[in-house]
Amino acid sequence: MRDTIVIGAGLAGLMGALALAEAGRRPLLLSKGQGATHWTGGTIDVWGDTEGNDLREVLRSLPASQPDHTYARVGVEGLEAAIDRFRALVEAANYPYVGSLERNTLLPTAIGALRPAAFFPVTMAAGDVRQADEMLIAGFHELRDFYPPLAADNLQAQGVAARGVYLTLPPIKRSLEFTTRTFAFLFDDPGFREQIGEQLRKERGSATRIGLPAVLGLKDPVGAMRDLERITGAQIFEIPTLPPSIPGMRLFQIFRNAIAHVGGRLQVGSEVLRGIGEDGRLTTVYSEAAAREQEHRANYFLLATGGIAGGGIRTDHTGRVWETALGLPLRAPQSRAEWFEPRFLAEHGHPIYRAGIATDDGLRPLDAHDHRVYDNVVVAGSLLTGSDPIPERCYSGLALATGWHAGQLLRIED
Ligand SMILES: Cc1cc2nc3c(=O)[nH]c(=O)nc-3n(C[C@H](O)[C@H](O)[C@H](O)COP(=O)(O)OP(=O)(O)OC[C@H]3O[C@@H](n4cnc5c(N)ncnc54)[C@H](O)[C@@H]3O)c2cc1C
Repeated sequence: MRDTIVIGAGLAGLMGALALAEAGRRPLLLSKGQGATHWTGGTIDVWGDTEGNDLREVLRSLPASQPDHTYARVGVEGLEAAIDRFRALVEAANYPYVGSLERNTLLPTAIGALRPAAFFPVTMAAGDVRQADEMLIAGFHELRDFYPPLAADNLQAQGVAARGVYLTLPPIKRSLEFTTRTFAFLFDDPGFREQIGEQLRKERGSATRIGLPAVLGLKDPVGAMRDLERITGAQIFEIPTLPPSIPGMRLFQIFRNAIAHVGGRLQVGSEVLRGIGEDGRLTTVYSEAAAREQEHRANYFLLATGGIAGGGIRTDHTGRVWETALGLPLRAPQSRAEWFEPRFLAEHGHPIYRAGIATDDGLRPLDAHDHRVYDNVVVAGSLLTGSDPIPERCYSGLALATGWHAGQLLRIED
């Protein structure tokens, strides 16, 4: 019998597992696969404000208009505590995050759009488009879906001085498939960095900062950035790419090491198929294994399997919407016709993306009559109902805050 099982390896599950492992609860984390970490840009988006508002004030005023919003469950203090722990974790791994809750920073995307982020790796910091300095955006023909001239043109159109160039790959052991991962391995090599740095120095012109796809290595991205800065004399910054996300992989590795270091265990490749309980407590979950189902018993469970994008919620053509691990009741549109607003860019988002588990103040799952389903289960991350993640852009901020909070709630259980 385990003390605690965490289900899901996204930011919510990882934060929860870290909190529990640090409290000596030796959690077992079961996960079907990687979390959204491997898809996301690697920034911590707390709220999608682009007007320069103080995010803490925005979030403090939220309960007045949306009393059931997920942020209201953790409060601004809960969010700050989670961010503090997260930043200390990544700083200790030599991958510091910068930014603030005072206001979002606008960073360029791979197509030159501007996106707000509260916190981001220091390797992205010089991309802040509110700085006036000219940028050079550089990439490689071999890395698909990153087009420096397109990004630069779009930035120019928005008043950001930018120019785009393609670099030439030095002779290397050819790879049939160039992915972000291939480039990250290349940038882990100081010799490769020297050659690319030299090209950048020649191309730089009047630009004082240079944006590259976010592939500056998995081992020491800050060291890679500093090397390129030394060679070029310009500030270097990373721009998130399409998946797989190297910044997300770095984060996952940092969490994995930290959790294992304090006695937790991660078992990725273990989809939880069902659970059974008695007397209002979940006792056992069953995960998919090669030959037969694997049984796991524990005193407490933290469920963080993501929403529709994470696999924690599934839908089908009949309009059925269900929770995949434990079959918990969901708050979701009653019929398929109610899933989407008529307009794609609907002001309040599409109702299906609000589908999720409702909880009490202690993040325990509720049924349709607001009765607790299990006393020893807490829920975190995108699986919770109560936010409108796409228009609100509260993704990773909510995952960190609720994951950490859920871990704290279980820490104090006997
Ligand atoms: C393509 C994409 C890009 C994004 N970009 C950004 C961004 O740039 N900035 C940002 O802030 N946010 C971004 N997000 C959103 C953000 O990453 C997520 O909202 C947030 O990380 C959710 O975290 P989570 O832990 O709740 O769920 P997830 O990260 O989705 O993790 C869910 C985990 O549960 C596991 N799982 C699911 N079902 C089961 C099961 N039955 N049994 C066992 N395990 C299961 C999954 O394998 C996964 O490990 C993006 C999301 C996507 C999909």
